[in-house]
Amino acid sequence: MASKFRCDCGASVRTNLFEGHGVYVLVAEKHVEEDRSDDDANACLDRIVRNGTLVAECPSCRRLALIDSRYNVRLYPPSDGAVPLAEFVRRSEDV
Ligand SMILES: [Zn+2]
Repeated sequence: MASKFRCDCGASVRTNLFEGHGVYVLVAEKHVEEDRSDDDANACLDRIVRNGTLVAECPSCRRLALIDSRYNVRLYPPSDGAVPLAEFVRRSEDV
């Protein structure tokens, strides 16, 4: 799988989960709620990542990218006043 894409603004956005550049995994609720009580932690994490959609934010224009398992990229521009993705996630973790 590719590890970066070119945003509409021209910036290169890295999407490798293991490089720690603010890449997230969007997981469908059905994959979270599956009964996988036999999974160990690594198997559970692997299943979640395998079934998830990557989410990355362009560091230049802050477009949000959803990236499927075939590396199709869908870009969404931020609305006016939207907080950066990392800030949004941090606020969610504080609840
Ligand atoms: Zn961009």
